Amino acid sequence: MGLWLSAPGPKLGPVAGDALVRLFGVRKSFGGVAALDGVDLEVRRGEFFSLLGPSGCGKTTLLRLLAGFETPDAGRIEIAGRDMAGVPPYDRPVNTVFQNYALFPHMTVEGNIAFGLRMKGLPQAEVRQKVAWALELVDLLGLEGRYPRELSGGQRQRVALARALVLEPLVLLLDEPLSALDARLRQELRVELMQLQRRLGTTFIFVTHDQEEALVMSDRLAVMRAGRIEQLGLPDEVYERPKNRFVAEFLGRSNFLPARPHSLGAETPVGILRLREPLSQEALLAIRPEKIRLYPAGNGPSARENLVRAKVEEIVYTGAENQYYLRSGEVRLLAYTLNQDLQEPGAEEFAYGEEVLCYLPPENLVVVHG
Ligand code: ATP
Repeated sequence: MGLWLSAPGPKLGPVAGDALVRLFGVRKSFGGVAALDGVDLEVRRGEFFSLLGPSGCGKTTLLRLLAGFETPDAGRIEIAGRDMAGVPPYDRPVNTVFQNYALFPHMTVEGNIAFGLRMKGLPQAEVRQKVAWALELVDLLGLEGRYPRELSGGQRQRVALARALVLEPLVLLLDEPLSALDARLRQELRVELMQLQRRLGTTFIFVTHDQEEALVMSDRLAVMRAGRIEQLGLPDEVYERPKNRFVAEFLGRSNFLPARPHSLGAETPVGILRLREPLSQEALLAIRPEKIRLYPAGNGPSARENLVRAKVEEIVYTGAENQYYLRSGEVRLLAYTLNQDLQEPGAEEFAYGEEVLCYLPPENLVVVHG
């Protein structure tokens, strides 16, 4: 997107700070289904915040409540300190970018971007200036005369972004804006969206069911399930310290081991494992595949504990890494190794059927709850 020249436009926003959007005990049901089941949430001014969760968990409902397209059954929503009860969508300091772009097909790019400004009754000269700023912001200068049908998916999404941003919302709501695009374009637009958000300082609330998107783009994220927030935090916090099995499974992949307290740490189906902290009750241990270190059976690490002997049952080559499906007795483990040059110290490759030693570092064994 654009060259970020010093064109006129909204002022740069402040850095992430005070709470701009607040939800207190928000509930919303459709028929008998609780789409939102008591949500408390604070989104800070200037942050890129993602709502992540499986289909039907209530993400879109939450956005629609913020935008004013739906009304909560209970609870309160505040934006910039103002109670939003009874405030219609057009009076809220928010704008939405939809997954399907929702552009006006009979209007040019310029007409689409200018529409909201004209509705507000801005003078023509100001409309022109702001539209030019927005076109440049999303790198669409030169395409202003085209109709949506004459644009690629990525270009349409940029028009939708420009149309929303030109109105200078305090909060931009983005409902799976990248999901209709092909994988490569999605990755490019991800980076551009992040740059755009930093550049403008506008608070972004981004809905996605794509865990990688949420991890890469967000300052903070919330994982939702069945109308509730399961965990909220920095991407690495939530990834490295998932609270429960649902979060650990939804955000990336994990190995799980049932565990009982033991004087040395935990008793598990793969033996006694040392942990960072003592275990007080039966629990589940989670370890990410990339945290398991693999060694040839005859050439293990100097550490004597947390070693599990296993056999390679399957190897999946993904280009950047090798994924080893392993079996130790009745237990299956998944471990990833980086596909490094084999000359590099520590680089190893293993074969089907080979016996290996898996080292499960205590600091990476996370206690989670069902
Ligand atoms: P997706 O990723 O599939 O868009 P989501 O997390 O955004 O899912 P919502 O669209 O918020 O989920 O829906 C939450 C629940 O509320 C679902 O069970 C859905 O069927 C229901 N729901 C949402 N909107 C309505 C509606 N207008 N009428 C009836 N049920 C609805």
